[in-house]
Amino acid sequence: MATTNDGASAASPLAPAWLPVPGDPDRLEPVLWAAGVDRDASGELTVQGIAASALAEQFGTPLLVIDEDDFRARARAFRDGFDAAFRELCGGADVYYAGKSFLTVSTARWAAEEGLRVDTASGGELAIALRAGVDPAHIGLHGNNKSDAELRRALEVGVGRIIVDSVDELTHLAALAEAAGRTAPVMLRLTPGVHAHTHDFIATAHEDQKFGLSLAPSVQDADGNAAGRSPAAVAVETALAAPGVELLGVHCHIGSQIFEADGFGLAAERVLAFLAEVKERHGVELGELDLGGGHGIAYTAVDSPRPAAEIAHALAADVQRAVERLGLACPRISLEPGRAISGPAGLTLYTVGVTKTVDADAPDGGTASRRYVAVDGGMSDNPRPVLYDADYTAVSARRTSEAEPVLSRVVGKHCESGDIVVRDVYLPADLGRGDLLAVPATGAYTHVMSSNYNALPRPAVVAVREGAARVIIRRETEDDLFAREADPHNEETRA
Ligand SMILES: *Cc1c(COP(=O)(O)O)cnc(C)c1O
Repeated sequence: MATTNDGASAASPLAPAWLPVPGDPDRLEPVLWAAGVDRDASGELTVQGIAASALAEQFGTPLLVIDEDDFRARARAFRDGFDAAFRELCGGADVYYAGKSFLTVSTARWAAEEGLRVDTASGGELAIALRAGVDPAHIGLHGNNKSDAELRRALEVGVGRIIVDSVDELTHLAALAEAAGRTAPVMLRLTPGVHAHTHDFIATAHEDQKFGLSLAPSVQDADGNAAGRSPAAVAVETALAAPGVELLGVHCHIGSQIFEADGFGLAAERVLAFLAEVKERHGVELGELDLGGGHGIAYTAVDSPRPAAEIAHALAADVQRAVERLGLACPRISLEPGRAISGPAGLTLYTVGVTKTVDADAPDGGTASRRYVAVDGGMSDNPRPVLYDADYTAVSARRTSEAEPVLSRVVGKHCESGDIVVRDVYLPADLGRGDLLAVPATGAYTHVMSSNYNALPRPAVVAVREGAARVIIRRETEDDLFAREADPHNEETRA
């Protein structure tokens, strides 16, 4: 790589514009890492003082390492930040940990111990929350197509809220509840036409997506609803008339990786205006408003998330203005952060295997080299780069290096050329076989989306608390790969 006259390495023409050449590729940017992550005197990455190489040796790689204290601190920051911001205005706020981001018995328990409630999105997630001992009254059940078995179980165990996604589901749930002699506690999921779009949001009138009940009046008769009324209005009327339903309030979720409060604020305004219409038409003030999740985190150094308390205060100001203008009592506010709690608490440790440098055509018409660094996992333990083109970053974990930073692509070991772990990152030129790489912010949507593609056993998950590491999900074994096989030779072929 060329060196500029001030001694800094020049950018590769293959690098995306947002990626600067780091002065020190071994530096741990605080925004990216769990609070317990640091480097020791020798330069090795540590988690609450435990060396990366010790974790790798004891538990193997790939390894998902969760800083449990960091997870708990982020959960408390949401609970305290939102409760304080909304205490005077609406009597406080309830924080539901969005389990789908990283749900295990352990993580559900941590959330509950820190005073959070837990959102689930399937019967399986509900089972995990119940197994963790979460009070059913503090569990929400989501899903756009819940099965009868899922709805019956939710009614039976007494979940605190079922977030209903359609008029179809509402009438079906009402019938199931009546048949079971129970009352379904219902939140209606509305689509306010506000969508998170990277660092911005976009506002639309109509909703062409599978989730929720639109606030916009229908232009045609659909699902038996008269044209000119919104699906949301029809759902409220249906819910208020159904004997098996207790309508608690309304819900909206505007997307993910949201960095500013204004998108949440606009959604809240639209939904509060709808609640004012409900009050006028039915004489009912619904008591709950859930503003969903989607609070952004830093995956690379260009992301700058705001503290939960800051989002909470900005949002509370918007809500206050809206309820005063509309003449409403403030409903109780709830929210559903997932990745903002579980994401930054996690990091993945990989062992480096093959490295190779290839020539690539650069956008400037020339040729430039790209270094490929292959690790012992990939899309099976983190499918987000493949699914969403998600960006991550990485650092050398076992050691620091004086070698110059070179543009690198960290790839997995799967039979897919798209099997990318980190698309673009500058790593020390001497990184090679046997080195450890750490990828930050991998707590959310990795373990829960992992697969056995290429028959790779899924990694272990280790939690570090008060300087001690313990396995919360063991690594899969070769036997696990055969556990569901009906092959009659299965038993014989096991060692
Ligand atoms: C996915 C989801 C969340 C959590 O989203 P994050 O981006 O992890 O905060 C919350 N609520 C609903 C309804 C969701 O679908």
